Amino acid sequence: VRKQHLVPKAHYGGRHAVTMLPGGGIGPECMGYVRDIFKYIGAPIDFEIVDIDPNVDNDEDVKYAITTIKRNGVCLKGNIETKSEAAYVTSRNVALRNELDMYAYVMHCKSFPGITTRHKDIDIHIVRQNTEGEYAMLEHESVHGVIESMKVVTASNSERVARFAFEFAKKNNRKKVTTIHKANIMKLSDGLFLETSRRIAKEYPDIEHNDMIIDNCCMQLVSKPHQFDVMLMTNLYGSIVSNLVCGLMGGAGLHSGRNYGDHYAVFEPGTRNTGTAIAGKNIANPIAMINASVDMLEHLGHHFHANLIRAAVHKTINEDHIMTPDLGGTASSTDVIKAIIDNIDLYMKNKVSF
Ligand code: ADP
Ligand code: MG
Repeated sequence: VRKQHLVPKAHYGGRHAVTMLPGGGIGPECMGYVRDIFKYIGAPIDFEIVDIDPNVDNDEDVKYAITTIKRNGVCLKGNIETKSEAAYVTSRNVALRNELDMYAYVMHCKSFPGITTRHKDIDIHIVRQNTEGEYAMLEHESVHGVIESMKVVTASNSERVARFAFEFAKKNNRKKVTTIHKANIMKLSDGLFLETSRRIAKEYPDIEHNDMIIDNCCMQLVSKPHQFDVMLMTNLYGSIVSNLVCGLMGGAGLHSGRNYGDHYAVFEPGTRNTGTAIAGKNIANPIAMINASVDMLEHLGHHFHANLIRAAVHKTINEDHIMTPDLGGTASSTDVIKAIIDNIDLYMKNKVSF
């Protein structure tokens, strides 16, 4: 399959084809809501839906999904389950990111004024290395009872993600990048990541750069989160810190995350939860998946549709206070979707321009 530019050209009629991977747990119901909203507003997207069977040990479905993403350039995904416990069957989510070389993950954590939280007005971008580090998936038993797991940090990927973070800060008018690490203990691996980010920082004199050890970072985040602007870190720290920050702002059901490589982009709920325990009960918070779909529309240049959905979501939560139980509300998932569609209607009737 031919490699393509990060933002694919539209097809005839200005439409884009996008791969949809509903995944397990609450993925399929959340994708249903996205499709309802897109249909209602006539968003110019044709989804190519690929279901991945979590119970089979071969990776035919995943290979097919990757082929469609290479063709479409863009994907909206839930969390794909890997039910097999065999060690040789590795996480499909990780395999997908590695195969598409999506080396950077970005999560924008911005407070919703309508949600009661300990800290207000948080606005943090987390940039995470997305394809190596602790997720190298190279584990073995060297002698009986001794497991070794390799954390792989390369100069090239550290440089790519550092440059991504600084370019991102520059484009989005952010003031500071903080590298998060444990280079005092992991002197070589985290040391390389930190040194590389310091070297790249020199090319961006207008952006402040500092660094912080991961353990202190966790303490600072829960006590003084406003000191952070753009945060740059390796893969596992990124997973933990992004969940921590989501927890500060209302939980797993709100924020979206974006996976980027040089050629492909994949959009998904930020904390990458499956939500198996709450699936099929009409209680899952649909906002994270809807926000992921808004990111996807924006990436493809469909700004009107993106802004319309975003405004309707914000009004539903911040003004109408229609929320699912995870945010302290009493609404069902479908109540939230109905409120969003009513707000979309209101904007369209009043001819609000976006
Ligand atoms: P993981 O897949 O990482 O094990 P879970 O799927 O168990 O995580 O989710 C972690 C927690 O977040 C659970 O308590 C789950 O109910 C909650 N959660 C995840 N997604 C949502 C959502 N969209 N709405 C409400 N709660 C959610
Ligand atoms: Mg789970």
